[in-house]
Amino acid sequence: MFFPTIYSATTDERHIVKDKNTCACGTRYNAFAMLSRSDLRKIRFKHYKEVTCPLCKSSIIDEESS
Ligand SMILES: [Zn+2]
Repeated sequence: MFFPTIYSATTDERHIVKDKNTCACGTRYNAFAMLSRSDLRKIRFKHYKEVTCPLCKSSIIDEESS
């Protein structure tokens, strides 16, 4: 499965985008270093194995198992 993800340089983690403000783990990714519109283009569809945020990954696993 592929998910929209965004990379946070501040924590060196790749998160799954939940909506336009937050990641699946609850982090507000639009707070990452004052995101501009061009930064939003950094959202990439990646395989879940490439997601490095453990909270985001676990949220996906929960959905798959339920
Ligand atoms: Zn996350």
